[in-house]
Amino acid sequence: MKPMDLDRDSLTRRSEIVAALREIVPGEGVVATEISRRAYESDALTAYRALPMVVVLPETVAQVQAVLAYCHKYNVKVVARGAGTSLSGGSLPLEDGVLLSMMKFNRVKEIDFDNRAAVVEPGVANLAITRAVEHRGFYYAPDPSSQIACSIGGNVAENSGGVHCLKYGLTTNNVLGVEIVLITGEVVRLGGKHLDQAGYDLLGLVIGSEGMLGVVTEVTVRLLRAPETARALLIAFESCEAAGGCVADVIGAGIIPGGMEMMDRAAIAAVEEFVHAGYPVDAEALLIIELDGPPVEVDHLVGLVEAIARKRGATHCRISSSDAERLAFWAGRKAAFPAVGRLSPDYFCMDGTIPRKELPNVLAGMGELSQRHGLRVVNVFHAGDGNLHPLILYDANKPGELLRAEEFGADILRLCVKVGGVLTGEHGVGIEKRDLMPEMFNEIDLKQQIRVKCAFDEKHLLNPGKVFPVLHRCAELGRMHVHEGKLAFPDIPRF
Ligand SMILES: Cc1cc2nc3c(=O)[nH]c(=O)nc-3n(C[C@H](O)[C@H](O)[C@H](O)COP(=O)(O)OP(=O)(O)OC[C@H]3O[C@@H](n4cnc5c(N)ncnc54)[C@H](O)[C@@H]3O)c2cc1C
Repeated sequence: MKPMDLDRDSLTRRSEIVAALREIVPGEGVVATEISRRAYESDALTAYRALPMVVVLPETVAQVQAVLAYCHKYNVKVVARGAGTSLSGGSLPLEDGVLLSMMKFNRVKEIDFDNRAAVVEPGVANLAITRAVEHRGFYYAPDPSSQIACSIGGNVAENSGGVHCLKYGLTTNNVLGVEIVLITGEVVRLGGKHLDQAGYDLLGLVIGSEGMLGVVTEVTVRLLRAPETARALLIAFESCEAAGGCVADVIGAGIIPGGMEMMDRAAIAAVEEFVHAGYPVDAEALLIIELDGPPVEVDHLVGLVEAIARKRGATHCRISSSDAERLAFWAGRKAAFPAVGRLSPDYFCMDGTIPRKELPNVLAGMGELSQRHGLRVVNVFHAGDGNLHPLILYDANKPGELLRAEEFGADILRLCVKVGGVLTGEHGVGIEKRDLMPEMFNEIDLKQQIRVKCAFDEKHLLNPGKVFPVLHRCAELGRMHVHEGKLAFPDIPRF
């Protein structure tokens, strides 16, 4: 990652900025000592670290407004942060910027079963929403594997997904409204409990905008009735091609499973050693396919999926006969990342999406790339969505390995784009994939996206240096704000 030059002006005025922020957020809400700031120096992409200039933990929308208005007035950069579990460096702080932690916004404000909606603050953990409504048989569908920790504000910013998003949609399909504070301090409300909104779909724009358009201060989510029943199949194959073919056949038969996950041989071995889930370690590929709905429908679909799998040459097929057994099937998949963490001192979790039918080609291509870069790769993925999570194993203490891992990751994502896929499935672009954006978008595409950014944040103060590889002057795109003759981020090349 090419580092940005520091804004010396903000660093020189650091004590003045800290004092001003303390006026806005009194007490312990401003974290300024070096030792305390260290706790925030990275997100879950731990290969990159930066000590934030100062951390602020507001408790009210008025405080968020005042902090942002101050930063806007004095040209101070701001990075919003939820739980810090981003895998793309989305919440990596800036040494010359304010880190705005939203974790004190942790209340479920309203549960409205009649409208099947809940209104929550952005720091509420994803799983906490389900916990708050499950007593009435409801739940919040998107379920990132990090759901015990990650915040709904972070989910909105990253348009997060999870195992069950194949059937129930990503965050964007399950959020009905948001309140955001713009960098100017103004509050905008988009959507609500109603199912449609007038005007442009600005809610759709904000979801997945990676903290670059505004700070989310409230989220209205859709609640779903929990399925009556669910059963899972654990199916092993002698090749990834056969498993990929089975995935395509299931979808082609018009069946949309609640979840359809795949692991390759290396992942199966790592998981089995860690969790002892009873996975067949001699298999080349393993599928977990979950069907949910009314019991009669589920039983029927289980039979169809089993027949499809057998036709594709499945070597092993277990069908859960109790909820405990179903959860045991999932226990391995859910623990896949920590299991792989035991194989190597460091790993990069990549995130790309491909058309499902390209799965065998891409897996073969990854094998070749693994040889070329001299690094191992383990594959765990949301097969139903074509969303790959190759885990590249490396040792940051060995000179040159981090760079090789980065290059390997970039080549995997290039491969995804080459076969008609995209750079990200659910983890966002952040800094991880920023420099690869031109692989996917041409100059006109990128300019158009940056124009949208300029419309919300013309000084480029919100999460700068993320997502876009190259900054434009907003003037080149129709608008430019130059404060006291100073151009925002003069160091970043402009095309
Ligand atoms: C073990 C593990 C498993 C994971 N599994 C999945 C998975 O299955 N699916 C998936 O999609 N992701 C997964 N992730 C990635 C991560 O959990 C998600 O991206 C999550 O949405 C990040 O939420 P967070 O609260 O940690 O946000 P952070 O990491 O704090 O921030 C992420 C981004 O959101 C912005 N942001 C945060 N809060 C706000 C706010 N209130 N307003 C505006 N912008 C904000 C930040 O600026 C940043 O750009 C996983 C991560 C880990 C560590």
